[in-house]
Amino acid sequence: MAPLSIEFFPPKTPDGTTKLRAARRELYALAPEFCSVTYGAGGSTQQGTLDAVREILAEGIDAAPHFSCIGASKASVRAQLEAFEAMGVERVVALRGDLPSGHASFGEFRYASELVAFIRAETGARFRIHVGCYPETHPQARSPQADLEAFAAKAKAGADVALTQFFYNADAYFRFVDEASRRGVNIPIVPGVMPITNSAQLLRFADANGSEVPRWIRLRLQSFGDDTASIRAFGIDIVGAMCERLARGGAPGFHFYSMNQSASVLAICRRP
Ligand code: FAD
Repeated sequence: MAPLSIEFFPPKTPDGTTKLRAARRELYALAPEFCSVTYGAGGSTQQGTLDAVREILAEGIDAAPHFSCIGASKASVRAQLEAFEAMGVERVVALRGDLPSGHASFGEFRYASELVAFIRAETGARFRIHVGCYPETHPQARSPQADLEAFAAKAKAGADVALTQFFYNADAYFRFVDEASRRGVNIPIVPGVMPITNSAQLLRFADANGSEVPRWIRLRLQSFGDDTASIRAFGIDIVGAMCERLARGGAPGFHFYSMNQSASVLAICRRP
């Protein structure tokens, strides 16, 4: 099986923490290369991110905190990197993040490429740096070409691996990989995979992140109404088929957006 990584978000309640521990135990059967934990822009879940990363490392699995630079200063990023190093963190997912409502200032970093360059300048080869990229174009990009240039700048600044935003269109991924390669980007571009378990949530995330849910999938999801079993079964089938196609086309691995749930990720990876 292709190498895989699994993304979690920091739980907000003790019950969520217990459920996440159980989900992780099940997902470790897939032998993930690492697990990553998201980070709220503006630091809203910073402690939760660190707590979850610490637990995962203690469970013997490599863990990567996501880390957004929006609103941050060089001094605060430096302090954060020192904290990661003290915890034994060896990889980070370096992002710009989005401005939380009510915040007006970008801070000392405007783009993720500047964060990547800063991490490299400050810590050399200490961390393996993952960055985000967008086969269907980041929603705020001036153009697809400008977004590809922005991605190439992150690779040039020292990123080791890219994790894509989720998508349901394998052709967009293959074209993106080709176009990045033509711009001299030669780091692995790992597809981000979002299992389908809940129609309303999926459509909300897709709209917020600029991911397209094709019409035929939207119509099928609508037709299932509240029948969650059918939604899950359909999701496992089409997402599993897309992963097979991506793997056949040379995808170097998969990054699963688990939403802290194990069942669909396990079913997709174990699909016959
Ligand atoms: P950048 O690479 O800086 O790009 C942001 C925008 O700026 C793009 O439109 C790009 O085209 C443009 N741009 C970049 N450089 C330039 C330049 N030099 N000139 C002009 N335009 C430029 N968000 C969170 O808050 N927490 C998380 O934990 C988190 N995890 C994520 C994990 C993955 C795998 C991905 C793909 C996204 C994640 N996000 C997360 C979302 C991410 O923070 C947002 O998509 C954010 O809007 C962009 O972050 P970025 O690092 O891709 O930014």
